[in-house]
Amino acid sequence: MTDDLGTPVLDDHLHLDPDHGRGIEAVKDFARSGGTHLLVVNKPSWLLGYEVETGEDFRPVFETTLDVVERATEILDGRAWPVLGVHPGLVSKLVDDRGFDPEAARDLMQAGLDVAAEYVAAGASGGAGDPVGEREALALKTGRPHYDTTDAVWEASNAVLRHGLELGAERDCAVQLHTEASDDLTEIAGWAEDAGLDPLKVVKHYAGGELAGPTPSVMSEKERLDVAADRADPFLMETDFVDDPDRPGAVMGPKTVPRRVRWMREQGYDDAIRNAHVQTPKKVYGIDTETTLDR
Ligand SMILES: [Zn+2]
Repeated sequence: MTDDLGTPVLDDHLHLDPDHGRGIEAVKDFARSGGTHLLVVNKPSWLLGYEVETGEDFRPVFETTLDVVERATEILDGRAWPVLGVHPGLVSKLVDDRGFDPEAARDLMQAGLDVAAEYVAAGASGGAGDPVGEREALALKTGRPHYDTTDAVWEASNAVLRHGLELGAERDCAVQLHTEASDDLTEIAGWAEDAGLDPLKVVKHYAGGELAGPTPSVMSEKERLDVAADRADPFLMETDFVDDPDRPGAVMGPKTVPRRVRWMREQGYDDAIRNAHVQTPKKVYGIDTETTLDR
């Protein structure tokens, strides 16, 4: 039995690991709970066992995500889309564990982003072009560490982040960010404008209900959703489900976004549901979560 919530339900950021985690079973849980659309972000390269040396070495990481997205789309009433990029925590793996200097780490991570951008259909999130194909990415993912670093690593990370924004402008696609916890990222929004990318199309993943600058992808806790719903600014909802058998309780499960949508209905947050699952996805990614529903 599927719970029909009478609306598209999009989880804006989760991971699926068909080889080590629950993979497609997690998608089935999401769909049975009333979820319809997913943005699937590739797992960090090192968690999939890849010791990257060149940008090309990221390709199998991205291919894993493209494969699982195709399978997820077969199950969902709506569909899934891939979001590809380089996890900002890689800089520490390279510098602390593998002896890279920060500049070399920066270059490798930027090269990985260049390869990710090759998978993005030109104009993917522009809303004007053709619908994104299943072997094409919808958006890019970049960012900077959420923990304290040396100045040199911070500088290298910001250069990677800005490169990601430039690629987003070039491909006319949205860019998801992993950053430190913050309710004010107007500096990064300014960098997006410098690069020629609308800050609305820059999405801070793991966000609170309130954010100055980019669009918040709000972690689906009731307290955060209360804040986002009251503000009525564009926002998205996510779980950051990591699909990691070693960290089963680390994050929210795949049923959380549909469950929270049901709770939002009970609270009378109907406008916020439409905001997060129809209007903001259209503005940010150029996707139509209504016409892509089969039912
Ligand atoms: Zn994540």
